[in-house]
Amino acid sequence: MALRLDDRFPRYKLGFWPSPIHKLERLSAELGVEIWAKRDDVSSGLAFGGNKIRKLEFLAADAVAKGCDTLVSIGNIQSNHTRQVAAVAAVLGMRCRLVQETWTKWDDPAYDKVGNILLSRIMGAETLLEGEGYSTSVKETWERALEQVRRDGGTPYAIPAGASDHPLGGLGYAGFADEVADQEADLGVFFDTVITATCTGSTQAGMVVGFGAQDRQRRVIGIDTAADAAMTRRAVTKIAHATAELIGLGTASLDQQILIDPRFAGPDYGLPDEPTLDAIRLAARLEGMLTDPVYEGKSMAGLIHMARSGELEPGARVLYVHLGGAPALNAYHNAF
Ligand SMILES: *Cc1c(COP(=O)(O)O)cnc(C)c1O
Repeated sequence: MALRLDDRFPRYKLGFWPSPIHKLERLSAELGVEIWAKRDDVSSGLAFGGNKIRKLEFLAADAVAKGCDTLVSIGNIQSNHTRQVAAVAAVLGMRCRLVQETWTKWDDPAYDKVGNILLSRIMGAETLLEGEGYSTSVKETWERALEQVRRDGGTPYAIPAGASDHPLGGLGYAGFADEVADQEADLGVFFDTVITATCTGSTQAGMVVGFGAQDRQRRVIGIDTAADAAMTRRAVTKIAHATAELIGLGTASLDQQILIDPRFAGPDYGLPDEPTLDAIRLAARLEGMLTDPVYEGKSMAGLIHMARSGELEPGARVLYVHLGGAPALNAYHNAF
């Protein structure tokens, strides 16, 4: 069943849809498995885009409808999400206040100056450097940022980390499943396995709901990047249930469809291990496709491992979902 969410939920268009799908010819030949890429990293003209754009289309429509004038959000210092919120605020003509926390201890003096945070500053966002430790729970720094906007006479619109734990957070990637099914029909292919990076959870949760509603079933494998697969599973589960209920779908089979692979997260959130760096080099050298040390390099490392170990059967047709993130690469120059 197609969800056709556009008929039911207001959406503020921020991307070029559908995002491209293409076969990764040289990587497929190297790994002996047919691999295609769904390029949500090149789906928008807003500040290099990425997966948050697809989610934020629904939140942006809500912020406009509610008469808000300031987007407030939170993330790591090198958050792709907060950079995309800054871009959305710019095109909506709103102000933007970003709480940039230290979720990762990457030792580089330029870490809080280049890449994502630089782009957010260029786009006029206020970047508040404070707080420590990644977790999906609500924080005091966050409440303070919202309160400051109100005190200054503004009307804030609160966007949680990754635009995930929000009533509308799962809609973007539920709709993504419709988009993929339409492209499959055009191309005459079917992807039996979908591989995605997962962290704050609404990307995978939306996919589980959207693909789960389709007649022909497939596997969605989430590669954990939080280095805490139990926390990631709780986030994905909560958002999948809330999203299915919002859309009016059953929730009975959701939990068994949530597959989270903990093996490729590396030592911690934001810290790449050797297989991640090798995966980044391989995709770059065979395909000219850039992936990052925080998310996509880890899901690429997972894909490579599963292909080489035979976990992906020869003849499997895999969709690697590229969710963006390359702007963080500059902050990791010393890893290469
Ligand atoms: C945010 C992000 C993810 C993880 O998506 P979630 O919805 O937070 O699970 C993966 N890749 C990139 C590049 C991201 O920016």
